[in-house]
Amino acid sequence: MSNETQATANYIGVDLSGTTLCAALVSGAGQVVERREMTLDRDNVAAQVARIAAELRDAAPHIASLGVGVPGLVNRETDRVIVSVDLPSVVRGDFHAEVERATGLKVELENAANAAAYGEYVAGAGRGSPNMFYVTIGSGIGGALIIDGKLWLGTSGFAGEFGHITIDPEGNECTCGNIGCLETYASAPNIVRRTHERLFRDGTSSLSRLSLNRDFTASDIAHEAMNGDDFALLMIERTGRYIGTAVAAVINLLNPERIVLGGGVMEAGDLILDPVIKEAGRRSFQPCFESTKIIAATLGASAVSVGAAMLARDAGHNGSAPA
Ligand SMILES: [Zn+2]
Repeated sequence: MSNETQATANYIGVDLSGTTLCAALVSGAGQVVERREMTLDRDNVAAQVARIAAELRDAAPHIASLGVGVPGLVNRETDRVIVSVDLPSVVRGDFHAEVERATGLKVELENAANAAAYGEYVAGAGRGSPNMFYVTIGSGIGGALIIDGKLWLGTSGFAGEFGHITIDPEGNECTCGNIGCLETYASAPNIVRRTHERLFRDGTSSLSRLSLNRDFTASDIAHEAMNGDDFALLMIERTGRYIGTAVAAVINLLNPERIVLGGGVMEAGDLILDPVIKEAGRRSFQPCFESTKIIAATLGASAVSVGAAMLARDAGHNGSAPA
């Protein structure tokens, strides 16, 4: 596609994470023009994507292609989703061809963390940094690597499994089968688990507002920390230190220009970012650390859809899908 076409065309990015479908109409420059969010229709995902794409098309008729980010491993050779914890049966089989048929558009399918990384690189906190590592910390922990302005996918497309870096060889068992992965400490459900455990053990925790509500979420913990609750602050700070330990490994290995941290857990802002930076600084090789900026993501909930749209743009697709 010529640069001129790229500048005037629009793209659709779809984020199928979890139980929600988010879709965005994105300009060729990576700006969100329109956005839709709804409950995922798990039995008819391709049809639902096609319906939303048609709606967004009404807002901007010239749609060049569509990208979809899925919470699973995608084999880019076959365009098939190999493993997806959140969407077991929905996106298996020939989902890629199904969406192309249903929408009439060329479709790029990509792992959600990879898509979010690309979004942050093109239009967010990673702009202008062709060598960056992206981390997303939410219900799970994902990562993705941009080298020389391109996603670096690894031999079979699975690079960047940041959440499964071991930070405690004696730790808890992880869903991946390993012991002591970062995810077993710092994902949202594990922050809640650790907080519950500590509420029982720690006498001073009875002063925490969290002890009044047995059903608190990671977001509640962050909220109480921001309101100055010492116990919640301690839990957020500890979580930041665990993340920082894994970030140090990435800094030593890659010496990236930026490490961009996104996902729901980062809503705690500087309360979590500061201990991440401090711990990464303490544990990494100083010349590497000093040339790497560790910063918060800026695209928020739009990262996956913007990135998926930009991956579709840069795959060079033009026109409609093969009939
Ligand atoms: Zn693991």
